[in-house]
Amino acid sequence: MTTASTDIVHYINGRRENGAGTRTQPVYNPATGSAIRTLHLAAEDDVNAAVAAAKAAFAAWADTPPIRRARVMFRFLELMNQNKDRLAELITQEHGKVFSDARGEVERGIDIIEFACGAPQLLKGDYTEQVSTGMDNWTMRQPLGVVAGVTPFNFPCMVPCWMFPVAIAAGNCFVLKPSERDPSASLLMAELLKQAGLPDGVFNVVQGDKLAVDTLLEHPDVAAISFVGSTPIAQYIYERGAHFGKRVQALGGAKNHMVVMPDANLDQAVDALMGAGYGSAGERCMAISVAVLVGDVADRIMPRLAERVRALKIGNGMDSASEMGPIVAREARDRIENYIGIGESEGATLVVDGRGLKVAGHEEGFFTGGTLFDNVTPQMRIYQEEVFGPVLACVRAADFAEALDMINEHAFGNGVSCFTSDGNVAREFGRRVQVGMVGINVPIPVPMAWHGFGGWKKSLFGDMHAYGEEGFRFYTKQKSIMQRWPQSIAKGAEFSMPVAK
Ligand code: NAD
Repeated sequence: MTTASTDIVHYINGRRENGAGTRTQPVYNPATGSAIRTLHLAAEDDVNAAVAAAKAAFAAWADTPPIRRARVMFRFLELMNQNKDRLAELITQEHGKVFSDARGEVERGIDIIEFACGAPQLLKGDYTEQVSTGMDNWTMRQPLGVVAGVTPFNFPCMVPCWMFPVAIAAGNCFVLKPSERDPSASLLMAELLKQAGLPDGVFNVVQGDKLAVDTLLEHPDVAAISFVGSTPIAQYIYERGAHFGKRVQALGGAKNHMVVMPDANLDQAVDALMGAGYGSAGERCMAISVAVLVGDVADRIMPRLAERVRALKIGNGMDSASEMGPIVAREARDRIENYIGIGESEGATLVVDGRGLKVAGHEEGFFTGGTLFDNVTPQMRIYQEEVFGPVLACVRAADFAEALDMINEHAFGNGVSCFTSDGNVAREFGRRVQVGMVGINVPIPVPMAWHGFGGWKKSLFGDMHAYGEEGFRFYTKQKSIMQRWPQSIAKGAEFSMPVAK
């Protein structure tokens, strides 16, 4: 079994540091409900120390040829592959998700590292010869300096990997503020980066809460912030970051719909709803939380869904028989169960009630069962708000147009899916839906590393998506250089606007 130090501290300038902060908080194993580690929360001085280390490392790292930066990434990629299971075990211990799912998240994170190894190609500039007689013009992209990432609990390895491999490969120095709930993966990755040959100070981790985040937001030496988390905090980060003159990308919450058309393959649709609705206990920003059942689909699919939800195998994520683990925290479990009560009182039909689940041998664990609602309407809070748990709300729609309108009117626009066997419906859906990431017969369309991830509407504040080419754009600024040499300069001062000659 993987063990991590019971004290989770910061990682500054290539070393674990206890820091000056005196506040601590427990990190739980949600399957057992017991505190397994102690997290040291950063004081302002700790954040300042991390930013100072990053700033000091920047000049040399930015000056390192991209191909040599990429070579560090290649070695890191190798080490991440070797340590996949160690990372996955830490994630399951602190997050609760089943081990195979944790391993999958590590693999999707590794994809981005692999992509970041292409930095020399991705950082290539543009060149135009002879924009005017004897004059050339080129553009290049240069790193921003010290950049920071603030990440959520639900993907403690993958979401930081959306950010730092690209930022670092582009020549920046990074300060990561991971979630307080499952911080161990961040320290292991910091150590693997050092082993890969990353110079001290290029990657730093501060453990902490709002105080650490606010210190980063206000710090004059932090040039950009990437955030992933809930919508209210995403909006706050975006506004505060902009106030302090930073570049910000802030990815928020979601309410992802999956439309099931009458011509869809229902076996596939049921499997998709089960995996996307209840995988990782619904704690994925791309989880399907609303099924839009078109025409007669509801009557055909509901009994089958109900049977499958009742049969979900729920237990410790380290048990390979488990399909779904616990909820990350007691308060999160209580919030989810409270939403189920709200749905009931709003008049939705509670088909399967997951509340109050006790798992034998894990009575203190933060478990809740799979919950299924039918007859949910757009006026209900369980339709409008993000529950972030294993609760699937089924809405009935008369036809495709009604289903599409419903999705387009929703405040969130992260992911969406449509199950159909009609190519024209699929095409229209892809074109007309007001959502950032679309799946056609794909329930969780998380874009691959080179395509970039980002939602629309309240699911993303800022204009650039995470990773992919937009990731490189976010972490670099463009510079244009125009050049000519003395023999091509005409004599005399020019007082009119220069034009091509
Ligand atoms: P969260 O917003 O509570 O926390 C995210 C981060 O913000 C954490 O590091 C936390 O310490 C920090 N934070 C929390 N409150 C803060 C405050 N008041 N001021 C400053 N910083 C604060 O989110 P979470 O519960 O960790 O994660 C779940 C949420 O993340 C869900 O809403 C989910 O949809 C969203 N999410 C979105 C995406 C996406 O790509 N759009 C991906 C993963 C998760």
